[in-house]
Amino acid sequence: MTGTTAQHPAPRRPALLRLSALACAVLPLGAAACAGPASPAGDTAYAAASAPADELPVIPSFWPSAPASPTASAPAPAAGSAPASAPAAGSLTGRTVLLDAGHNPGNSKHTTEINRQVDIGNSRKECDTTGTATNASYSEAEYSLDVSRRARTLLEARGAKVVFTQDGNRPWGPCIDERAGIGNESRVDAAVSVHADGAAASASGFHVIMPAAVKAGKADTAAIVAPSRRLGLLLREQFKAATGEPYADYIGEQGLDTRSDLGGLNLSKVPKVFIECGNMRNSGDAKRMTDPQWRQLAAQGIADALTAYLTTPAN
Ligand code: ZN
Repeated sequence: MTGTTAQHPAPRRPALLRLSALACAVLPLGAAACAGPASPAGDTAYAAASAPADELPVIPSFWPSAPASPTASAPAPAAGSAPASAPAAGSLTGRTVLLDAGHNPGNSKHTTEINRQVDIGNSRKECDTTGTATNASYSEAEYSLDVSRRARTLLEARGAKVVFTQDGNRPWGPCIDERAGIGNESRVDAAVSVHADGAAASASGFHVIMPAAVKAGKADTAAIVAPSRRLGLLLREQFKAATGEPYADYIGEQGLDTRSDLGGLNLSKVPKVFIECGNMRNSGDAKRMTDPQWRQLAAQGIADALTAYLTTPAN
């Protein structure tokens, strides 16, 4: 894809349903990510080339049975747009965020290392895990890293400094305690850990995981519970607005969960949440997560949530 549609005017109806928006209008600040990899073979539903530019059909590949609007109750911002106003190029200047791409594609080759137990304050847990994968073997680790990189591009364009826990530059890990430590030592303003779930095939949807109040051993989340909740609510809102993905129908409540058993949250001293972007074992979710265009929307939702968190005052 070229950048020719990057300057597309704001869509007049939900951009999720517009071919042009799926291509590039999710990139209000530049066309860099428009040059991403092409859709995988078989995703021919995008090829509605004969439709007039302003009368593009509903794209069935993401939401074959969805209503005309990606949200039923409240009008969502068009895909790719920020909640209130488009973020200015320098709106995040001076701010630092952590993107924690869950797992590592190399973990499966380093089971001894990742199975080592580490202290997460209220218990001990494996250093890291291999993560899940789609039935076609597209791994959560690959997915998480790709979405994190796409989100980094968007956030850096807005002026943020973006720290990664791993960028495909190490053979395994890091361990979950180190993942938390990287955010703490970098004194980031906010952190998002990017994951995808591996639940029953019939289950679908995304959810955000927020830290519970934990005070045990070296874990003390008292200072981050409230700001993490604010971040989590914004992430739920912005991820849904960007992707149209429904809330998980198998876990949590209305797309939100709170957990005390995740080392990456227990040990964090900075506001932090996890997002499980969908269920890789569900055919519909897997198809979307395998699609680079959908991953761009996922990255947009994450970047917009962090932007909203950093540019709007806490109540
Ligand atoms: Zn995961």
